Amino acid sequence: MAYITLKDINKIYPNGFHAVHNFNLEIEQGEFVVFVGPSGCGKSTTLRMIAGLEDISKGDFLINGKRANEMGPRERGIAMVFQSYALYPQMTVFDNLGFGLTLEGVDEDVIEEKVLKVAKILGLTDYLDRLPRALSGGQRQRVAVGRAIIRKVGIFLMDEPLSNLDAKQRVTMRSEITQIHRETGATTIYVTHDQTEAMTMADRIVCMKDGYVQQIGTPKELYFEPVNVFVAGFIGEPPMNFIRVTVKNGHVNVGGNDLDLKPRLGSKLSAYEGKEIVFGFRPEAIVLNKTENSYLMKSTVELTEMLGDNTNIYINIGDEKAILKVDPHDTPELDTEFDFYLPYEGVYLFDGVTEKVIK
Ligand code: ATP
Repeated sequence: MAYITLKDINKIYPNGFHAVHNFNLEIEQGEFVVFVGPSGCGKSTTLRMIAGLEDISKGDFLINGKRANEMGPRERGIAMVFQSYALYPQMTVFDNLGFGLTLEGVDEDVIEEKVLKVAKILGLTDYLDRLPRALSGGQRQRVAVGRAIIRKVGIFLMDEPLSNLDAKQRVTMRSEITQIHRETGATTIYVTHDQTEAMTMADRIVCMKDGYVQQIGTPKELYFEPVNVFVAGFIGEPPMNFIRVTVKNGHVNVGGNDLDLKPRLGSKLSAYEGKEIVFGFRPEAIVLNKTENSYLMKSTVELTEMLGDNTNIYINIGDEKAILKVDPHDTPELDTEFDFYLPYEGVYLFDGVTEKVIK
């Protein structure tokens, strides 16, 4: 039995705005699930319904098989870390960490033991006497995480917990949170708009858009088997290249490159004759030397960005634009012709109308 079940969950705000539509998800105990999507897609609203901070308008929410729609936040056995750390400014780090336990009436010596243990895990031992204002953003974030993990709860909810940190701190905290999850084994739901966080931290990702779940799966599934143009474009950096083309005599013209779709679509090809489709390929899914089962693509180089570990090449394919990601040693000269090969398995085709992947 799933530990957390969301069955046809909907949120309609009092002003009539329908923020979440028929959200269905089963989460196993110990899983790390990430809700990802652009701003306003309904991920925080869903998290807040799980936390009990927002009413569920329609649908069933179960914890351990028991209906929890009407349970108060404390009853649900949930600890939450918010985007704003929400630390008590007048309390020391020690007291911030221990406060939840104090409220629960836990003995002082037990609190001390637990605070010291959590402080050690999070590298806060030397800061226990400080007030939050005397800490860096990253240290404050650690206190916020510590305050959540100190309580023995079944479920951790985190809403964009790293958004106030700089890029370097984010990378560090990302792996720390993953490590803490591994150690505590607590079921975690984590909200972010950052696909890198989702890809690196999640056991499973729930990708949302406009209040609708688009796809649920492992990071690998979303990356390699996106169900539609939205997911394909949202997951991956730089994003997948998309070029709209019309199928003519089983071929498409991608910026002057005549490509035979037969090897890619087989018997499905006839269904798309005369129709518009979306031709997609990831910047990194190309090869520079001729290989079997691939399309030759001719392009010209508009701009290159050498990033150290790779180079992004901004190319023109006829009138179309695309980005390629190559080894920095293969960085081409600007304004030169650039030929590359696109293996068939790296080509994604989507229905031009529904934007669903054509398998
Ligand atoms: P962000 O990353 O910006 O926080 P989100 O995906 O978490 O975005 P939500 O905060 O869940 O999005 O909001 C989803 C939608 O619901 C948005 O369009 C938002 O404007 C709307 N919304 C949020 N709170 C309310 C409210 N109290 N009343 C009406 N609409 C609301």
